Amino acid sequence: MSTLNGKVAVITGGNSGIGYSTAKKLKEEGATVIITGRSQERVNSAAMELGVKGIIADVSDLAAMDVAVNQVNDEFGKIDILFVNAGVFIPMPVGQNSKEGFETLVDINFKGAVFTIEKFLPILNDGGSIINLSSVNAYTGMPNTAVYGATKAALNSYTRAAATELAPRKIRVNVVNPGPIATPIFSKTGMSEEQLKGMGDMMQNRIPLKRYGRPEEIAEMVAFLASDKASFITGGEYNVDGGLNINPVFAM
Ligand code: NAP
Repeated sequence: MSTLNGKVAVITGGNSGIGYSTAKKLKEEGATVIITGRSQERVNSAAMELGVKGIIADVSDLAAMDVAVNQVNDEFGKIDILFVNAGVFIPMPVGQNSKEGFETLVDINFKGAVFTIEKFLPILNDGGSIINLSSVNAYTGMPNTAVYGATKAALNSYTRAAATELAPRKIRVNVVNPGPIATPIFSKTGMSEEQLKGMGDMMQNRIPLKRYGRPEEIAEMVAFLASDKASFITGGEYNVDGGLNINPVFAM
């Protein structure tokens, strides 16, 4: 049964990975889907494959976000679902955090997420659903993720207050915290194949289910939170992480 018939959904960073899979899933559930992203070529080709609307907008560029909101409003009117997904992963060890890396992470993962919500709020229907894409790194203390994890923890914190403040409009605001998911995000870090494999092996070994997640497994959770099935859920955080959050001392 289609759970999102008649709903309009915006997904930031919808041309790749989790955003792409979620666009596919929300469309299958009956929603009209709009994806955004930075590169005209990547957004257009994903929009074409998915059969959805593509809009070019860098989430860290607030003027570009204003244009995107106006474009959505002009073409689709008000929206019902906002999936705040766009993000980057830049691993940096403590003591070697660069100003540039710090600013990029904060600009995209936190400032970009917050102002995506701020900018789209005027055209989000009462009773709508906002889903923020965070990470288990908000909690794990994994090496090289001090700043990345902090941007995600900041988003989780913002979500709790936003859920309280938007409750009078019956807008639900929730967070999904994925564990490692097989997407292009890791190959964009500039790490070598060998380093990526080493990190992958190390992480999979710590995950009780002993594998990376698939983007479709995050899309399922987002589709649920976006739907009326989740009508009494707001201010929640959902780990989709193969049990990584349990952080067992002894692996089985
Ligand atoms: P991905 O395949 O690299 O997708 C990220 C998407 O965000 C891409 O469409 C990317 O566009 C877009 N994006 C990046 N910066 C942007 C900006 N400034 N403005 C607009 N769009 C931008 O990675 P993913 O794994 O699906 O990541 C999606 C989200 O999940 C991120 O927030 C990430 O932090 C989070 N997450 C991922 C994992 C994981 O293991 N994969 C785990 C936990 C959380 P481009 O094509 O231009 O780069």
